[in-house]
Amino acid sequence: MKTEAISVLGATGSVGENTLDVISRNADSYRVIALSANHNTQGLAEQCARFNAQLAVIADPALENELYKALKAQGATATVMSGEAGLVTAAGLPEVDIVMAAIVGAAGLKSTLRAAETGKKVLLANKESLVIAGELFTRTARHNGAQILPVDSEHNAIFQALPVAFEQGLEHVGVERIILTASGGPFLDMPADKLNQVTPAEACNHPNWDMGQKISVDSATLMNKGLEVIEARWLFNARPDQLEVLIHPQSIVHSMVAYRDGSVLAQLGTPDMRTPIAHALAWPRRIESGVKRLNLPQESDLSFKQPDLKRFPCLRLAFEAMSAGENAPVGLNAANEVAVEAFLQGRIAFNTIPSLVEEVMQRLEISAINNLDDVLMHDKLARIRATEWVKQIR
Ligand code: NAD
Ligand code: MG
Repeated sequence: MKTEAISVLGATGSVGENTLDVISRNADSYRVIALSANHNTQGLAEQCARFNAQLAVIADPALENELYKALKAQGATATVMSGEAGLVTAAGLPEVDIVMAAIVGAAGLKSTLRAAETGKKVLLANKESLVIAGELFTRTARHNGAQILPVDSEHNAIFQALPVAFEQGLEHVGVERIILTASGGPFLDMPADKLNQVTPAEACNHPNWDMGQKISVDSATLMNKGLEVIEARWLFNARPDQLEVLIHPQSIVHSMVAYRDGSVLAQLGTPDMRTPIAHALAWPRRIESGVKRLNLPQESDLSFKQPDLKRFPCLRLAFEAMSAGENAPVGLNAANEVAVEAFLQGRIAFNTIPSLVEEVMQRLEISAINNLDDVLMHDKLARIRATEWVKQIR
């Protein structure tokens, strides 16, 4: 069988590490070409040595020398590049077939977009790219024959529950609704007056999933589900009124598709990102992922309920941004990234995250997004406003 060549962007993160784990279990099928990290030179050098990567990219240009030394110490022979130019190069290398886009936040946009421009198989974990540039990204992929395979567990589940012909439109295949499940995060049942006192460590301690810090906080505020609703809107070309969220604390049903005839198709599995990663890597084949098998008698209490938008306003704000369209999701995402960072640094309280996002959204003037420059400009503007607001409340 032909081996496929892969670049893993964000290789040292939670999704990146899980991707390399699945690759190592299927070493005959995949060749690692390029790996990237933000600051972790040591971790990146070890990965390069282990997978014999040809290109190592460190996003922070100040760490280029440190990466050289770390690679040398590991006996790794990878070429070094840095900064956004390095990430974009790794995404667009002609010999690369698959790009795992697993950088966190809007920082992943340019490299993920480059993978779409160069017609790669794009394994999309970096949901923020699609939230802020959904129209541009899906159009670019279509024009260049790039295939987007969702890695986010909900979207991967939805993809698995849809026939291939969904690309001709959800109506065409009889879909009525898409139901995204949400665990509800660590504070699902916490009274509103207690939410103000939660610490970053508590927010990052997710009951079912082991993830990076930013997405863990997003899961605790339910902003993650809000971003995912917008992600689903673009991935499946869904109308906003076709998208629904249900709280499912067990994280066994990863999402569902409801059809015109009353059928509801769900994808189930142990909460482990290696399943959606393996699915996206090998689609339409199936490969071993190393995931613990689901034991249904032990999981018999599967429950579903409506989300509480009063205690978790981020989800409402995301639905509003999706309906407003244009630059609204850009503002939402940028304000949220600034707020989450400030919360993780102990500068604002947990409840201030939605207040800050709402403040930025209320002042936002809706204007059209036509190209990448528009996205970057509105992203910057919202970050400036959100950062000023953080300073004011301190
Ligand atoms: P993480 O924080 O664990 O890892 C992020 C990776 O991106 C690291 O390799 C880091 O070095 C790199 N990175 C961070 N900032 C960067 C920057 N400014 N420039 C370049 N590289 C940078 O994050 P994660 O949990 O692996 O999440 C990655 C993406 O996948 C996010 O968009 C997240 O929403 C999505 N996702 C994650 C999970 C999960 O289980 N962790 C599930 C679904 C979707
Ligand atoms: Mg998800």
